[in-house]
Amino acid sequence: MEKGERKGYEVVIIGGGPAGLTAGLYTSRARLNTLLIESALFGGQMTTTEMIENYPGFPQGITGDELSRLMEEQAKRFGMEVVNQEVAEISLEGDLKHVRTHESSYLCETLILCMGTEYRKLGVPGEKELTGKGVSYCATCDAAFFKDNRVMVVGGGDSALTEALFLTKFVKELTIVHRRDALRGTKIYQERAFANPKIKFLWNSVVQGIKGETVVRSISVKNVKTGEVKEFDTDGVFLFVGISPRTQFVKGLVQMDEAGYILTNDQCETSMKGIFAAGDCRKKLLRQITTAVGDGATAAFAAEKYLEGKE
Ligand code: NAP
Repeated sequence: MEKGERKGYEVVIIGGGPAGLTAGLYTSRARLNTLLIESALFGGQMTTTEMIENYPGFPQGITGDELSRLMEEQAKRFGMEVVNQEVAEISLEGDLKHVRTHESSYLCETLILCMGTEYRKLGVPGEKELTGKGVSYCATCDAAFFKDNRVMVVGGGDSALTEALFLTKFVKELTIVHRRDALRGTKIYQERAFANPKIKFLWNSVVQGIKGETVVRSISVKNVKTGEVKEFDTDGVFLFVGISPRTQFVKGLVQMDEAGYILTNDQCETSMKGIFAAGDCRKKLLRQITTAVGDGATAAFAAEKYLEGKE
């Protein structure tokens, strides 16, 4: 397509994680002309998850890569178009939505926002400079670089626990640094972490800085109860201190909460007619693959009803 030319669709979906792929499966089976725009890998955060044990239908679990591949194959089977581009801007043209990527431009009657979340940064000295040099946000991607090393994992949620458990297959020693004295993650992951001889815990502790000239050498950690600051030698620091929604480019277009999660009703409708949101970028109680696929189906069905109402 020539630059400047704008192709029209009944549905454009932004984001190819489980919510977006499910929405695409449903709209293309409803014979709606659908485009899915994904800026990286199809599967979203599933692609950086080693083993998924809580998605029904796979009693022995399934790897994130495999589930991503299967969902992508199924979504594409019914004629959905896909492009690998990054969305830069969305604007309204009457009833139509205009989606601009860095390479192209699309017009659509309905838009389904499925951008998901990204890992939050800790914001301590050394984090930015040493990212990719020992600081990581993805164990599945980087664990193999830390074979027989010592690493620190920061956070106490499901991400910190599942990624720490995965890392123990590679590293010699692992310490979870958590700011409180109780974990937030699911009980079964807590049990596995406590039972793993390679995992130690530093409770009531916050990271103050990450040090190293060219690669990570140490971190300084403050005990929030005693105020004591200690330096620990380490080869890697994995940060899992929560997530933030990837909704910057829809600010002002649809209503969000103070953290940037998109507000919807139970039909995944946003505050703007014809724009729907599904999956982790939506304000909701539980962010899991199971709830993302449910949202994707709901948003697709609601988009179909909206288009029928316009006819
Ligand atoms: P999360 O549940 O928000 O946990 C973030 C952790 O980081 C919390 O323990 C929090 O401490 C800590 N934290 C936050 N800010 C911090 C700071 N500035 N300094 C130090 N520690 C900080 O995030 P998540 O673990 O990434 O999980 C996100 C969502 O994905 C959750 O809904 C989770 O259930 C889901 N998930 C599910 C699975 C699974 O089911 N297999 C796997 C991964 C993620 P506090 O506890 O004190 O708040």
